[in-house]
Amino acid sequence: MSNEDKSAKEKTIFGKEKNPSSIVPRKLTLESPLKFRCHPGVRCFTACCGGIKIVLTPYDILQLTRRLDLPAHEFLHQFTQPTYLENTDMPGVMIKLREDDNKCPFVTPGGCTVYTDRPTACRYYPVGMADFHEGGSRDAAGNENTSQEEKFFFLVREDHCKGFEEDKEWTIREWRADQGVDVRDEMNKEWLRLVMRRKSFGQQASLSEQAKRMFFMASTDIATFRKFVFESSFLDTYEIDDETIRKIKEDDVELMLFSFKYLAATLFGAKVLKIREEKVKAKIAQIKVRQDESVMQSIKEYEELKAESERKKTEADSNK
Ligand code: SF4
Ligand code: SF4
Repeated sequence: MSNEDKSAKEKTIFGKEKNPSSIVPRKLTLESPLKFRCHPGVRCFTACCGGIKIVLTPYDILQLTRRLDLPAHEFLHQFTQPTYLENTDMPGVMIKLREDDNKCPFVTPGGCTVYTDRPTACRYYPVGMADFHEGGSRDAAGNENTSQEEKFFFLVREDHCKGFEEDKEWTIREWRADQGVDVRDEMNKEWLRLVMRRKSFGQQASLSEQAKRMFFMASTDIATFRKFVFESSFLDTYEIDDETIRKIKEDDVELMLFSFKYLAATLFGAKVLKIREEKVKAKIAQIKVRQDESVMQSIKEYEELKAESERKKTEADSNK
């Protein structure tokens, strides 16, 4: 990660604003009033589309690749750069700003060229959402306990943003619905939980390189994840019902949501996917064979040591 990346302001999707001085220190609810409007007539139009870190969620990537009619790998190559999510070791991507003016590649003087498919972080601005239990509490099965969540909202008020001087008044709920944030929240929810769960483990545990690669692949390239599901031994390993198979075969969004379950199961042991009985038995048999081999090896080593020790003792006795 470059220094530029670290120092850039960040449009929030994880409930944390990296420029805290601009956060209005007041908890808001869905019914709190908001006086704000953003439109091409504001003096600052597109001022918030530069010098900023915009992390993309899997759903953002799915929508943008469809919009631009690009395969994920081309989109990632052209428009993104790698980053780590929420100071964890989980790899993700952020929008790569233009080199000449440090602005988002999708901004023009006329506004955002991908507006109806703009990323989640752009939709949140200037209302952030925080999850009081963002570290995630878990039930006995290791699954996230959603009932204890307590969300609240906060305003990000930056001097350059003149939208607050406009007359339009609405509630946070109305504003979020207008921005299409609710749909995004639903789509991003389980993925964000994975990141927050990882974050809650801190530095005590680290993900294997293979786990990181899998997380990155599933989060950024749904076509490759599809190949992994349908062209590997995946379906022989996991018990997936026919209806789910039909859905994830036909629908990218369903496949994306399914990938979050797979990641929760493989990265954190969440009991959301069942491994086929025969695979479990085969694995146990394999482990048993390995254990038997280890025991045999230990016995052999012990016998050799014992024989060696007895041989030395006999030698010593005969030299007396
Ligand atoms: S995607 Fe659109 S709204 Fe978001 S920063 Fe880029 S130009 Fe602005
Ligand atoms: S700075 Fe504020 S008002 Fe100006 S374009 Fe961005 S969101 Fe709209």
